[in-house]
Amino acid sequence: MPHSALEIAQALIRCRSVTPAEGGALCYLQDLLKRAGFETHRVKFSEPGMPEIDNLYAKIGRGVPHFVFAGHTDVVPAGDETRWKHSAFSGDVANGVLFGRGAVDMKGAIACFAAAALNHLAANKNSKGSISFLITGDEEGPAVNGTVKLLQWAKARGEQFDHCVVGEPTSVDVVGDTIKIGRRGSLSGTITVAGKSGHAAYPQRAENPIRALVNILHAIQEPLDEGSWHFEKSNLEVVSVDVGNAAFNVIPGEAKARFNVRFNDNHSVASLKTELLERSKKAAGATQFRIDWEPPSDVFVTKPGPFVDTLSASVAEVTGKKPQLSTSGGTSDARFFKDYCEVVDLGLVGQTMHQVDESTPVADLDRLTAIYRKILERYFA
Ligand SMILES: [Zn+2]
Repeated sequence: MPHSALEIAQALIRCRSVTPAEGGALCYLQDLLKRAGFETHRVKFSEPGMPEIDNLYAKIGRGVPHFVFAGHTDVVPAGDETRWKHSAFSGDVANGVLFGRGAVDMKGAIACFAAAALNHLAANKNSKGSISFLITGDEEGPAVNGTVKLLQWAKARGEQFDHCVVGEPTSVDVVGDTIKIGRRGSLSGTITVAGKSGHAAYPQRAENPIRALVNILHAIQEPLDEGSWHFEKSNLEVVSVDVGNAAFNVIPGEAKARFNVRFNDNHSVASLKTELLERSKKAAGATQFRIDWEPPSDVFVTKPGPFVDTLSASVAEVTGKKPQLSTSGGTSDARFFKDYCEVVDLGLVGQTMHQVDESTPVADLDRLTAIYRKILERYFA
């Protein structure tokens, strides 16, 4: 009996694995893979002040090439569960649609890859190379005790990955219509401008920090670039301006603003910080200010080549159409793989992710399973 992605997805959805809870999802997957001959490891990581996170690493085979599938079994909360047509952790199927938290983000894709890998292995007993699952329980949370540490752990064990597919829901309208070959970087900061508070009627005795802050915000919102071969233009959004002054007759002593930049490969974190600081200095003149930076995530792109070609050809064989190679949207755990191996994201249609009644057509699960199966066939051929 071939493994069915639907059955695996239902079993996973029925586990209440809302970050940071394991909820039985990793246990289920570990058991499934172990029975198929995978060597499995449960790896827990912790950090002071954060909940301990359970992760799973499973591998079959010894040689090269080494293909890794990466994903997360943790899910975002269901919200008001009474608003769901089908209970959020039921895994109900109605009219050919599977409902449940994680159906598309991303228990569904894990199920598809598990079914694809197990069926591939059953049909190719002497397959060369290695297949691994690197599954975290900490993607929707702080992402501190998940993929980053699991990759370090695997490296310390001597594991070397050649290529990785992350199963985030990248498809836009139809399964396989889009592969994310890269992700923009993200950099956030808080600008604090120091002034001198005083009476609004006596501005000569005060220094209003809002004047300098407005100038700085103008300067940093100027275009950062014109886009690049694989990326749209970088963009900075001011997301908050905070003075907190309730009085009309008081010049405040301090003003703050927060911003987020989504940047392309014309920049690195370091060069972008330098650019924004220089613009701010020029705009602020003699006024004192500082920028406090949040932990950034860097930009990456897996340039089209043999690996991306294999993926595209596999998708086209199943769907009849080559996928778009995109770098739009938010970040994913793929950013942590870029220092280890070539990586892309390829998963289900993301329209209902994080929503009430998250769902996927069962036909989409079958189609993604067929795509993953083709990828494995071509990759190990
Ligand atoms: Zn996800």
